[in-house]
Amino acid sequence: PLPVQQVLDMGQRATGILAYLHHHGVTLRNLGATNFLIQDGERVVLYDPDIREVHEEKAPDDERKSDVALLGQLLQRFVPVEAEALTEVLRQCASGAFETPFAFGRALEDLIRANLAEPSPIAAGMTDVGLARTLNEDNWGWRRLSDDMDLYVVADGMGGHDSGEVASQMAVETLCDEAFRSLNEECGVSHERVEATFDASFQAGNNGIKEHSEHLGNDMGTTMVAALVIDRKYAFVANVGDSRGYLVRGEMLHQITRDHSLVAKMVEQGRITEEEARVHPHSNILLRTVGTDYDVDIDIFNVDLAPGDRILLCSDGLWGEVEDAEIESIMNHFPNDHRSACRELVRAAHHGGGKDNVTVLIIGIPE
Ligand code: CA
Repeated sequence: PLPVQQVLDMGQRATGILAYLHHHGVTLRNLGATNFLIQDGERVVLYDPDIREVHEEKAPDDERKSDVALLGQLLQRFVPVEAEALTEVLRQCASGAFETPFAFGRALEDLIRANLAEPSPIAAGMTDVGLARTLNEDNWGWRRLSDDMDLYVVADGMGGHDSGEVASQMAVETLCDEAFRSLNEECGVSHERVEATFDASFQAGNNGIKEHSEHLGNDMGTTMVAALVIDRKYAFVANVGDSRGYLVRGEMLHQITRDHSLVAKMVEQGRITEEEARVHPHSNILLRTVGTDYDVDIDIFNVDLAPGDRILLCSDGLWGEVEDAEIESIMNHFPNDHRSACRELVRAAHHGGGKDNVTVLIIGIPE
C-alpha cells in the first residue's frame, strides 16, 4: 500500500489521462500497474496501453464506464486496509458506479478536500509474475470487516489462461464479500461464531468457483490461505492447498498451516525428508484445492497474537524457492517495515529461480 494522498494523486492524474483518451475516441481493454510510468517523481505517463477500440467520435458511454472501473480495480491494490473512505469509493468505482473519468475524479477530489488522516500501515502485500511465466495466476486481497476485524487472503490459481487467474480472483473476492456481509454488522460476537462464519465464507468461495467451472466446463481451481485478525489479539488462519501461513514471533519463523500436497503427506508418513520434498518430481500435486469439489475440507488454526508478532501469507512461489531460514532472516531484517520485507522476499524468490508466480502478504501486530 501507498500513502493515501499518493493514491488520490495517482487516481487524479490517471482520470485526466482517461478523459483525454475518451475525448479522442480511444478506449482500453485492460489496465495494469505496468501501464503507468512515473517520471521525475511526479509526471504520470500511460505506457504501452492495451487499446480496445478507436472510435471516430467520442468514446461510447459503456466503454468509458468500463475504463473507469478498470482504474478503480487497479487503484484498490495500493490502498492501506485501514483507509476506509477511499476503499469504499474505489470499491464503488470498480463495480461501475462512475459513468466517466470526470465523475470519478470528482469523488476523489472530495476525498482530497476531506484531508483524510494517514493510517499507519500494519500490512503490506506484493505479487509478482516471476522470471519464467508470462501470466500471474496468484491473487491477494484484504478487507476491513468491522471496527476490530480485518481479513487478509492469498490465492494461487491453476488451470492456465482464463482459468487460474479467474479462479484465484474469484476466490479472494467471494471470501472478502461473504465475510464482510456476515460479519460487518456483528459486534462483540464470540470467537466460535466468527470461526463458523469464516468457515462458511471460505466454503462459499469454494462452491462459487466449482459452480462457475462446471458452467464453463473447465477445471479451474486455486489454493487459498486467509487470516482473519480480531482486535489485533487473535487470528484464525484457514487454508486449502499449499499456500502457507507463517507466524514470526521473537525472530522465529513458525509454519501455521499444513500443505495439502502429496509430498507433504509423504513427509508426514516419514517416507521422504523435507529436503527431498522440495525437489520431488511430484511436488506440485495437490490433494485439496478450492473449486475442485463442492464442500471442501478447510483447516482452520487458532493463533493467540502478541505485540510484535507478524503473520506472513504466501504462495508456493515463495517457499518453493526460498528456504525457511532465509525467509526468517529477511523478516527479521525488516521487523517494522513490511513493504520492504515484501519486496525483499520477492527478490529472494527471483534469486532462487523465480520459476513460479510469487505472492507475499505481511500483517504486523503493533508493539
Ligand atoms: Ca504457484
